[in-house]
Amino acid sequence: RAGSLDRSTRGSSTTLNADEDNINVVVRVRPISEKERSCGERTLLEFPGKGQVVCHNTTPSQKAKVFSYNVVFEPEATQEDILEYSGVKRLLEMAVEGFSCTAFCYGQTGSGKTHTLTGPPGLVESGASPFAPGHGLVVRSFVHLFRLISERPESHFILKASFLEIYNEKVIDLLNPGSARKPLQVRWSKESRGFYVENLFTVDCETLDDLFAVLEEGMRNRAVGAHAMNAHSSRSHTLLCVRVRRDLREDAGVVCSTHGKINFVDLAGSEMTKRTHSTGKTLEEANNINRSLMVLGYCIAQLSDGKKRGHIPYRDSKLTKLLADSLAGNGVTLMIACIAPTRSNLSETINTLRYAARAKKIKSKPIVKMDARDALILSLKREVEALQAENQHL
Ligand code: ADP
Ligand code: MG
Repeated sequence: RAGSLDRSTRGSSTTLNADEDNINVVVRVRPISEKERSCGERTLLEFPGKGQVVCHNTTPSQKAKVFSYNVVFEPEATQEDILEYSGVKRLLEMAVEGFSCTAFCYGQTGSGKTHTLTGPPGLVESGASPFAPGHGLVVRSFVHLFRLISERPESHFILKASFLEIYNEKVIDLLNPGSARKPLQVRWSKESRGFYVENLFTVDCETLDDLFAVLEEGMRNRAVGAHAMNAHSSRSHTLLCVRVRRDLREDAGVVCSTHGKINFVDLAGSEMTKRTHSTGKTLEEANNINRSLMVLGYCIAQLSDGKKRGHIPYRDSKLTKLLADSLAGNGVTLMIACIAPTRSNLSETINTLRYAARAKKIKSKPIVKMDARDALILSLKREVEALQAENQHL
């Protein structure tokens, strides 16, 4: 734990500074399970601090691999540590200020993605209080979001939440289980210059309980769907989105609105991409395995390679369309790479650590999303102010 809480590796999680990296990469290592322990499994990972993970190899002749990230959470780290030190608080602040933000968990099945986002199985669905211990990052973020809002009494906020699942490139509304029979379409909006899901159920959330109810309902519906289909949850992505509209009354009664959002994404198991890579199949052929996960990998690889900018294949999958604004344009992304500590998971662990190291190279400047009209009014107002100031000096 000392390594994860090392001051130098915390990152500046609470400061709002658009010049910082727009992707923050942290690693969470889950504890060895009872079952693994009883099979005599041991950990192959070491944490020297400063955001580093050392991965020892299985044979003494092979050299250990060293990876470094913004923060590494060791197996003893608590759910509260993830909220405090992952940088998610900066994302929440930015969502309130009008940026598009995404926090996603990446890793093989069983590495702790769902645990990190929503806690142990059944906790949310059981209707536990939002303040119950054990809750994951999503519920803790909801609580923090309402704290941030209460600190800004000069603004009026409107929150809207939606919760969907992408399974086999079909978008299913987790708040409307009937949509499993008739998947929803992802479309481009000229007006807001972004992708959206047509007919997605969106809930106005005035209180913390409203947000929590959305999560609970969606998780229950997901469990029902998963029961009907084998290995469903390891092959699907879930995306919970909270839109934050802020109306701020400027001088002279002008109301300026910003439109921020935060997505929480629980990705399909990363072992799903392997089959396509190993047979060298093209994106087209990957269609039925897990296109969204593969394309996300391509997008991240291209984004981190500055020279290839402009050819980022967001349009090639449902998930990347929906995350495009936070990955590139006007957003900030937090990647939580989840890994298991044991020998039997070593090759998947190294794949995840590599993927995460590549993501860390992405840089782009986030911008606030505002209504075009509001942006124009604001810029004209600033111009008038500048002219008035100039006049005073004459
Ligand atoms: P994934 O969603 O990546 O497939 P899960 O989140 O379901 O993995 O985790 C697999 C199992 O390990 C679950 O039983 C989960 O509760 C447990 N687990 C994962 N991470 C932790 C952790 N940090 N502390 C305690 N148990 C964990
Ligand atoms: Mg899971």
